[in-house]
Amino acid sequence: MASVAAVPEREYDVIVVGGGPAGEVCAGRLGDAGVEVALVEQELVGGECSFYACMPSKALLRPGELLAEVRRIPGVTEAVTGELDVRAVLERRDEIIHGLDDSAMEPWLDRHGITLVRGAARLAGERRVAVGDDTLVAGKAVVVATGSGSSIPPIDGLRDAKPWTNREATTSKAVPDRLVILGGGVVGVEMAQAWSTLGARVTVIEAGDRVLAREERFASDDVANALQERGVDVQVGVKATAARASGGEVELELETGGPVRGDELLVAVGRRPRTDDLGLETVGLEPGEPIAVDDSMRAQGDWLYAIGDVNGRTLLTHMGKYQGRVAADAILGKDVRVLSDGPLSPRVIFTDPHVAAVGHTLESARGAGLKVRVVDVPTQSAAGASFYGRDNAPGTSRIVVDEDRGVIVGATFTGVEVAEWLHAATIAVVGEVPLDRLAHAVPAFPTRSEVWLNLLEAYGV
Ligand SMILES: Cc1cc2nc3c(=O)[nH]c(=O)nc-3n(C[C@H](O)[C@H](O)[C@H](O)COP(=O)(O)OP(=O)(O)OC[C@H]3O[C@@H](n4cnc5c(N)ncnc54)[C@H](O)[C@@H]3O)c2cc1C
Repeated sequence: MASVAAVPEREYDVIVVGGGPAGEVCAGRLGDAGVEVALVEQELVGGECSFYACMPSKALLRPGELLAEVRRIPGVTEAVTGELDVRAVLERRDEIIHGLDDSAMEPWLDRHGITLVRGAARLAGERRVAVGDDTLVAGKAVVVATGSGSSIPPIDGLRDAKPWTNREATTSKAVPDRLVILGGGVVGVEMAQAWSTLGARVTVIEAGDRVLAREERFASDDVANALQERGVDVQVGVKATAARASGGEVELELETGGPVRGDELLVAVGRRPRTDDLGLETVGLEPGEPIAVDDSMRAQGDWLYAIGDVNGRTLLTHMGKYQGRVAADAILGKDVRVLSDGPLSPRVIFTDPHVAAVGHTLESARGAGLKVRVVDVPTQSAAGASFYGRDNAPGTSRIVVDEDRGVIVGATFTGVEVAEWLHAATIAVVGEVPLDRLAHAVPAFPTRSEVWLNLLEAYGV
């Protein structure tokens, strides 16, 4: 009788599929608890965030932001007289993304006792994951953390025009002379600022009536105005109907006429969960769709979990990491649930001015049926603002107060370097700190956090 080589099967307590921030955090927490974990990764451990999204985009944005800020400060502006060194900025970006090499992660994986399996994983029925010819079997759970990729809308000729996605937009080795960006969401406005600061002529085409449609209207206006002042052509209420690449340039036809031409075209109109080729059909789920989960991140029975972008709840690294902690704890038998995620999660848009927001906007609070009052003060209203540059983007700070409960349910700050302010607001919102208690949280003088005094006084506490 002919003998057939047995397909190797390896057993682990937990198999995490996808080594982006969500998968890494979940695997690390389980490994620390003594669980035997396999982490399967088909590209780079660190995921989209470390190599093609959060990290390189901020590396491209920060030098221009800093230069603009020091130029606003008398005494410093005289000392900093040159322009950005574009080559050095791109080299620093490459350093931050480790030249697209993830070997620096290996010691971290070892420290947490995680076994790394390189390859593309597919579910192969309950608790089974195929990686090439191997089958991994999970004693306890499989956690899917495969993230998301750029969504290319069905616009005539767009795919054939080989547009940039976030990957090319964050790793390009050269600055295009003209960059057209389809989409005025977070990725669109951040990339508009980054590449225009580095010398590109940028056009943003947004179909809706404003950029950053989910944020407070003043945030959309502040960012659009600042981009326009930098020379970015921001066109809102304009739909793209067709795209064509020829002679080294890309043309985008617009409903209102056009075309608008660029050397590169970046598509930044949203994300698709990476579930097309994941074997979801083998466990009765729909390929191509986000994996729906409950508040403990369970997708099916007590064995299948989905965390991060792939479940479609909140497409942000910190929230994927939070979900990773919750899923790990649930697998460890703890009774845990996410308290708040989704559109109300803390979020920062790293343009100049920054937009930092948590919880409701005025519109979303009203939509949720809350009885709210908003209070706005200028972001520059605290004495500490004097030490930031003169004539910087003015900015607004807003709190949205639930009048029935006397707590803050939302906050938005726009202004120079306000990202780090956000966590105080997040604590107030998630902790549901009563306003009359919050009034005793005294900000130090002269920090810009005194804007909180101004907000609470304006509200009448
Ligand atoms: C340009 C840009 C800038 C951003 N900036 C920020 C920011 O400043 N702050 C923020 O919070 N968020 C930001 N985001 C969002 C953030 O990048 C995502 O929310 C985050 O990367 C999601 O993490 P994740 O672990 O769910 O997935 P990912 O980071 O997408 O990682 C998923 C991993 O799974 C792997 N994988 C996929 N399929 C398989 C398979 N079948 N087998 C094995 N491995 C697989 C992939 O190779 C990948 O490594 C940005 C996004 C973009 C596009």
